[in-house]
Amino acid sequence: MNTPPSHPLPRVLTVAGSDSGGGAGIQADLKTMLALGTHGMSVIAAVTAQNSLGVQGYWELPVEAVRAQYRSVVDDIGVHAVKTGMLASAELVETVAGLLAETPAPVVVDPVGVSKHGDSLLAAEAVESVRTKLLPVATVVTPNLDETAQLTGVQVEGEGDMREAAAAVLAHGPRWALIKGGHLPGEAVDLLTDGTEEHWLRAPRHDNRHTHGTGCTLASALASHLAMGMSVPDATRAAKEYTTGAIAAGFPLGSGLGPVDHGW
Ligand code: PLP
Repeated sequence: MNTPPSHPLPRVLTVAGSDSGGGAGIQADLKTMLALGTHGMSVIAAVTAQNSLGVQGYWELPVEAVRAQYRSVVDDIGVHAVKTGMLASAELVETVAGLLAETPAPVVVDPVGVSKHGDSLLAAEAVESVRTKLLPVATVVTPNLDETAQLTGVQVEGEGDMREAAAAVLAHGPRWALIKGGHLPGEAVDLLTDGTEEHWLRAPRHDNRHTHGTGCTLASALASHLAMGMSVPDATRAAKEYTTGAIAAGFPLGSGLGPVDHGW
């Protein structure tokens, strides 16, 4: 980071996709950062045409546009933490991984693969780049169970499988893995581990279908708390608490799945 400007506001950068419907992606990230009192900044990697019914289409930005946005932000304003989300293509994954490797700030990688509606947000051939280029530069990687299976081949069917899944994720080089078990029945249980410490995070299940943007929100809250100087376990606990509240307050918009709420 360049010489930090005098204002002490923690600065958090999201490198991700835009959700035109305002529920997930860059929009969820910036809302989360604002709600948590950090300064949010964005590098847009892809633009989706999206609403409560799903993703109607997406377009990647040119590599030069992503690189230029990143350099503009990091070289002048500086970042205390970075979050990555939808990166769409192998070329963008590799470009962003290269930029992150030069940035001395914690990195939260949300390895976005497929939306809740089943729309693919990552090209099939990009999964290998996520494994070999992006995971090694992550401070924390936050896969849900589908993304865990996509990255490692480990199918988690119960809490008992989560340790094996985390070990398989950690084998690709991130410092910490947060395996999100929210899609299992019962309590929402996540496992955070660095291979030595284990933290099991539990939250009551909210019977609310309006959960669009949950993963983006969690990763952005985690990055925001890291930017404030918290440890990874403390930042993860705080992020889970924020996200649980946002899910509880999720509300209907459009005729499909509504967004989590950041105004609680
Ligand atoms: N759109 C964008 C741009 C995203 O980054 C994501 C998830 O990370 C989604 C949509 C999917 O959101 P959800 O699966 O919560 O509906």
